Amino acid sequence: MAPTNTNECQGSAELQVKRAPVVVDGVTLNGPTLDIQEAEGFLRDAMFIIMEEAVRKATDVKEKVCEWHSPEQLKELLDLDLREGGEAHPQILQRCRDAIRYSVKTGHPRFFNQLYAGLDPYSLVGRFITEALNPSLYTYEVAPVFVLTEEVVLKKMVELLGWTEGGDGIFSPGGSVSNMYAVNVARFQRFPEVKELGLSAMPRLVMFTSQECHYSVAKAAAFLGIGTKNVYVIPSDKRGKMIPAELEKQVQKAKVEGALPFMVSATAGTTVLGAFDPLEDIADICERHSLWMHVDACWGGAALMSSKHKHLLQGIQRANSVAWNPHKMLMAGLQCCAFMVRDQTNILQQCHSAKASYLFQQDKFYDVSYDTGDKSIQCSRKPDAFKFWLMWKALGTKGLEARVDRALAMARYLTEEIKKREGFRLVMEPEYTNVCFWYIPASLRSMSDGPEFWGKVHAVAPLVKELMMKKGSILVGYQPHGDKVNFFRQITISPQVSREDMDFLLDEIQSLGKDL
Ligand SMILES: *Cc1c(COP(=O)(O)O)cnc(C)c1O
Repeated sequence: MAPTNTNECQGSAELQVKRAPVVVDGVTLNGPTLDIQEAEGFLRDAMFIIMEEAVRKATDVKEKVCEWHSPEQLKELLDLDLREGGEAHPQILQRCRDAIRYSVKTGHPRFFNQLYAGLDPYSLVGRFITEALNPSLYTYEVAPVFVLTEEVVLKKMVELLGWTEGGDGIFSPGGSVSNMYAVNVARFQRFPEVKELGLSAMPRLVMFTSQECHYSVAKAAAFLGIGTKNVYVIPSDKRGKMIPAELEKQVQKAKVEGALPFMVSATAGTTVLGAFDPLEDIADICERHSLWMHVDACWGGAALMSSKHKHLLQGIQRANSVAWNPHKMLMAGLQCCAFMVRDQTNILQQCHSAKASYLFQQDKFYDVSYDTGDKSIQCSRKPDAFKFWLMWKALGTKGLEARVDRALAMARYLTEEIKKREGFRLVMEPEYTNVCFWYIPASLRSMSDGPEFWGKVHAVAPLVKELMMKKGSILVGYQPHGDKVNFFRQITISPQVSREDMDFLLDEIQSLGKDL
């Protein structure tokens, strides 16, 4: 075999000439085949396009929020085929432009469709850095900075939960996964033998959540072998809050059936209505029956940043675990989801560790307690806390608080406007930034409330949304919910959104819907 040059990773051009080519299985191995200078040129060109198209234009209120095409049309426009031969940089840069052009601009001030929106420059730079470095957050040895930033962010979030004795946590790929963690940890705490013996060693376990909970709670029960029928659904009141007396009844019922109640998943900020469950009352019931109290604060957790609004989560300090997504109201960028436990016995590690000897060697020369990856159910893990840390550094806790306060004030403004305008009707007074309302076209306003009226109102939101999307003016959500026909759900998050956008939303619905 060829002599190896131990001092040279990539060999200079001069050396390469001197060396005889080494060919193995018909492949010449001398010198790199990726020209890093050429790669850098491509990256700079691509970054220019990203800045122009995915940042500047995508956040410009005068541009469209989306350019709608059917899947068939879009397939024609995009040239999606993967071929034998590759394409040159100019073509690839055009692919980049096209991908951006036909994508929805979630950073646009008129994107109100989901529980995340807007563009935060610091969190974006955080993502650029982690994407460029491509680390995996299992061990300190490959992600020293990101292990430490995750630790400090979790510590701050734990403080905000009011867990004065501390806690532990891990960032997970989604609030849905955080809720799965909660079920798994709650069960493990009650039955540590489940890790080794599995479900055959368990009695029938029952968990409780409200009718307004996120659908991931049912998914967690299905995924973890609890079974969706063993999720007892507690009715919520008119404002969408779990009714504690009903929870008490259902716990009793499960016990009478001979099942074993083990956890409650309360919701702080429900997905559709933005309602907050009464956490103190739920905590009392959990204490009385020794139930694990999980709070799904994926959406509502951000209110903890605000001294004005944190009362919404009063009682969260008594929770055993919390899921909180900074990628939603706090704009940390998808995805950024913390799962936290109040437990002091390293339960995440005990519950999830598999002690892979090739990764988590115990005889490393540094403090291996910083190899936090075995607390996770993942192997490779993105350093999702870093972008949040960078944004938090830039804005300070005060800056994050101001954002939350402004979003809630904006929702309050919209609510008052809805009350003033003819043809608009609130579903309920909002507690958070979910403003839920119907638009009633003039043709229906003389009808009396009844099945026929509501049947017609049901068709309004989807039609208006279709017109908006085809025009590219606004993306806003709608849904039927419980016994209520389709209504708009307006979510305000981004500091780029102004009062004018609230007025525009109502004007646009009115102008597109008035003749329906
Ligand atoms: C968004 C949301 C989730 C799910 O979070 P993902 O990160 O989208 O998986 C869970 N619970 C509530 C209340 C949510 O609003």
